[in-house]
Amino acid sequence: MSRVYNFSAGPAVLPEEVLREASEEMLDYRGCGMSVMEMSHRSKMFERILEEAEADFRELLHIPNNYKVLFMQGGASQQFAAIPMNLMKNKVADYIVTGQWAKKAWQEAQKYGRANKIATSEDKMYSYIPDCSDLEIDEQADYVYICENNTIYGTKFKTLPNTKGKPLVADVSSCFLSEPVDIEKYGIMYGGVQKNIGPAGMVISVIREDLISEDVMPETPTMLKFKTHADANSLYNTPNTYCIYMCGKVFQWLKKQGGLEAMKAYNEKKAQVLYDFLDSSKMFQGTVRKEDRSLMNIPFVTGKKELDDKFVKEAEAAGLYNLKGHRTVGGMRASLYNAMPMEGVKELVAFMKNFEEGNLKYV
Ligand SMILES: *Cc1c(COP(=O)(O)O)cnc(C)c1O
Repeated sequence: MSRVYNFSAGPAVLPEEVLREASEEMLDYRGCGMSVMEMSHRSKMFERILEEAEADFRELLHIPNNYKVLFMQGGASQQFAAIPMNLMKNKVADYIVTGQWAKKAWQEAQKYGRANKIATSEDKMYSYIPDCSDLEIDEQADYVYICENNTIYGTKFKTLPNTKGKPLVADVSSCFLSEPVDIEKYGIMYGGVQKNIGPAGMVISVIREDLISEDVMPETPTMLKFKTHADANSLYNTPNTYCIYMCGKVFQWLKKQGGLEAMKAYNEKKAQVLYDFLDSSKMFQGTVRKEDRSLMNIPFVTGKKELDDKFVKEAEAAGLYNLKGHRTVGGMRASLYNAMPMEGVKELVAFMKNFEEGNLKYV
């Protein structure tokens, strides 16, 4: 068996140790004679899996008691509607649009009320994070929304916006558990797990309790009400049981790595290796303003489409997979999530150096 280095933006690389463990438990989970996939979500066995996953997740992020942790289906995109439906009491919200995912969330919110676009970086193809220290926040705004790490464009908020007392709602899909965060700065922190945590098919949302109520838009489906899932501890209906189990394993793995402080240090080191090379290369350039660079998603280009295509193809032949950039940015993108080992990044950079030397005549 040979595994490749997978630089996909999502679904993405998972820790090999976790996959091995899951494969060992596939047919018979800890002597119970069945797979986790075959288990009732109401069984004691599964309840334990869910409780442990939530406890480990809370421990990793130091989540205070006045926040609920909900495991929900429908992907991050479903939250684009659930958030305004649950939170827009005044039917007003402020959105900071720093990429396609923020834009989609903003557009969806317009169905439910007045969604103001209070800042954006679309003038420069979302290649930076706008200054959000003193924005005009609508007096009536029920919340301020950001996408904290822009998966497609490779930018990250290094400082959270000044929301002037309004609850901050952040989509952290592509930076979830990549570094410690101060949860109390958020009203809601949520993300799809398929980028940096587990398999596709689930969202984890950390929601401050005062934002969970019966008082939602009347047309809100039961399944989109935060209160439904909060009251039932994420067991209102059948949750994505296998995904919860896999995420739980990743949480344990993260704890073994030393928690989020250690992950942050490792992620910084990995990203530095690639950014240092990009800054010295004659062929490859990063596409993002330096101070806004993401540690997770790193887009880069040669400036020539044919050369980009050649690079992606030859990289794949060398075992470096899924480096093709998003169609709107072109070029390449390397996603260096928690589970990407340093060796993968070093191999990528060594390959880039070689490619550059061999193809300088095309630059
Ligand atoms: C991938 C991604 C999404 C969409 O996630 P789905 O689970 O496919 O709906 C939303 N936001 C961000 C930041 C993403 O990276």
